[in-house]
Amino acid sequence: MTHEPDAQELVPDPAAEFFMDQRVRVTDAARALFPDGTLIDLPHDQVQERLRATQVALARGDPAIFEATFSEDGIVVVIDILALEDRSYTLIEVESSTSINDHHLLDAAFKAYVLRRVGIEVDAVEIMHLNEECRSPDLSELFVREAISGRVRHLFSQVSQLITDQNTMLAGTLPAVEVGKHCNEPRECPFKTRCWPVLPLHHVETFYGLRQERSAELGAQGLVLVEDVPETFPLTVIQQRQQRSVTQGELQVDGDLGVALAPLDGRVAFLAFEAVGLAVPVWEGLGPWHPHPVQFSCHIASPEEDLRQVEWLAEGSDDPRPGMARALVETLEHVDVVVVYDKAFEKECLDLIAAGAPDYAKAVEAMKSKLHDLLPVVRNHVYHRDFLGSFSRTAVSSALVPDLRRESPEVFQEQTTETLLNRLLFSGEPMEPAEREVVRRSLLANCAFESLALVRLTERLDDLAKTPD
Ligand code: SF4
Repeated sequence: MTHEPDAQELVPDPAAEFFMDQRVRVTDAARALFPDGTLIDLPHDQVQERLRATQVALARGDPAIFEATFSEDGIVVVIDILALEDRSYTLIEVESSTSINDHHLLDAAFKAYVLRRVGIEVDAVEIMHLNEECRSPDLSELFVREAISGRVRHLFSQVSQLITDQNTMLAGTLPAVEVGKHCNEPRECPFKTRCWPVLPLHHVETFYGLRQERSAELGAQGLVLVEDVPETFPLTVIQQRQQRSVTQGELQVDGDLGVALAPLDGRVAFLAFEAVGLAVPVWEGLGPWHPHPVQFSCHIASPEEDLRQVEWLAEGSDDPRPGMARALVETLEHVDVVVVYDKAFEKECLDLIAAGAPDYAKAVEAMKSKLHDLLPVVRNHVYHRDFLGSFSRTAVSSALVPDLRRESPEVFQEQTTETLLNRLLFSGEPMEPAEREVVRRSLLANCAFESLALVRLTERLDDLAKTPD
């Protein structure tokens, strides 16, 4: 941000925008708990004006100041909430996570340190984070306020050194730093594609489920490519299949794939859900970051009729689960098997839908026993070199069913499914009817692709099971 402020990597991607939107909701909910608080409502680059406004609010004795701004030795800090409680100040940092991380502590320590330097007596430092136990609609316990004063005090000596280091670094030229763990902690650095070397296609790091110590052993032996690893090296069964696929031929099929697919008989449904994980839950019984299932697409194949599709998408932020449950029951009550990919998510969606639709709860719960997960079928029997170490639905479908192409509507080029669903249903952002229609149609097409991909993937697996050797 200092040396190349216009870097493309610094433009927030659609996923980051979604999290920023959730962060705003968390901040608003936190501020609502201090109804007489004053927001320092000035642009962040107007530092002097912000400092003055903060001093005015302090002099008035405002009970809480949001985004209180202080500066010392060229360091500017913005405090989420500076609350005057029992005639002393509490520094509160608001986090949208459900627990405290080390970097939250360091961030709070940095701010507390600067406040102490400017002469503001802070009696307590707290992190106010989301409460895992909270359930909508009762949001009175949405936050947990955790005291961290002691832990912050311990960090003061580090903070002073860090400030010196950071100032030295910022005053110099672009620092040359080797890549390493710091590129992923506390979060992934957006510059990784620039700094990290481009690894060969089948680098040993692509081994599926490679444990850290095994990766270190491979590195120590100077082994770079999957095909270089000798037979004596302890690889898992899946990694051995992967290696054979890379060295001998693109596709490997092991074990009795036919037996694994045998339950897919009779009327078979192929089901895909979409959900939005909201930091501040809006439907009854849901907690922070719980997925709010809002959409499904289902293709149904049966010996008696042509392949047909049923789709469903919520209309607004009101709890749609009774309607969704009814549609699911009507769609799936006569099917024998429900094919999904990675059933943990679909199971969770069914649980959440059942909880929000008591009239259909039993029928929705019963669907769980019909779920058949394609992920372990593929993982335990099939490897294509184009998986590149991943069994994700996208990696597997595009390698095994290459002619099935997602015709991504334009809106998906700049936004993710979750961002679009959030905009359409939860953000309250007004949308022109024409744009709304485009977004709706795009979301329906996207989800339909997911369930159709399951159909095509199953057909391909069936073919593989029937092909001798
Ligand atoms: S990718 Fe790693 S080395 Fe490169 S800028 Fe980010 S943290 Fe620094």
